[in-house]
Amino acid sequence: MSEKVALVTGAARGIGLATTKLLIEDGWRVAMIDRDADELSLASKGINGASPFVHDVSQPDDVDAMIDAVHASFGRIDAVVNNAGVADFGPIEETDFARWRRVMDTNLDGVFLVSQAAIPALKETKGALVNIASISGLRASTLRVAYGTSKAAVIQLTKQQAAELGEYGIRANCVCPGPVRTKLAMAVHSQDIIDAYHDAIPLNRYGSEREIAEVITFLCSDKASYVTGQVIAADGGFDSTGVGLP
Ligand code: NAD
Repeated sequence: MSEKVALVTGAARGIGLATTKLLIEDGWRVAMIDRDADELSLASKGINGASPFVHDVSQPDDVDAMIDAVHASFGRIDAVVNNAGVADFGPIEETDFARWRRVMDTNLDGVFLVSQAAIPALKETKGALVNIASISGLRASTLRVAYGTSKAAVIQLTKQQAAELGEYGIRANCVCPGPVRTKLAMAVHSQDIIDAYHDAIPLNRYGSEREIAEVITFLCSDKASYVTGQVIAADGGFDSTGVGLP
């Protein structure tokens, strides 16, 4: 079994939980991070090789404490999956500053803070950063002013990380999932949005958590040892095609 350790944020459910399970199958040990203590405790039960850590990635002091706690517990960090995220869909004129900030705090500041705090540990292992953005960061559409902007920023942040951290052997890549039926998505996807995605996606369906996790775990692994600065859409072909247009 590999001694490698991954830190996965937003691991209590959805894509983060699927990524945790797949990494464990591949022989990793996993630090599961989430701010929802109850859901995290439930999710981590029975996953051999994974340990729960309750932290909020949007709080600088809490992020430092989190990296210290994970390093103290596991002794190393080989990969960081910045997956924790929130969604808030609304028209620009109705997105007040509090709504905007709530999205930016987790989706953008969280990725910046966790990555920065993990750099010393990742230098030791020549580790990997995998940031989870979205197709909403690749293409603009209505209602996604805060969410889409936060995800576009994560894409650029990933490229900055790849440019600057490559000299330490640290890789940084970004995954842009298409729609997946998680709690986050189903809270903001109306039936109209669901129908429109089915029409616009060449594979004509939502993805599964597992299909996204497969791409994330590849980027964490040594199989991707010469891959950095990349933005990979796992989206059934949505971003690269115009299928669905009349
Ligand atoms: P989810 O709501 O099922 O899971 C997100 C997890 O993140 C939750 O457990 C939540 O408690 C945790 N979290 C939120 N804010 C946090 C914070 N500040 N600190 C710590 N934990 C926090 O969502 P999901 O759909 O699995 O989303 C995972 C990632 O994938 C997100 O970044 C999301 O934007 C992205 N994404 C999802 C979809 C989709 O359709 N589901 C599409 C594109 C991108």
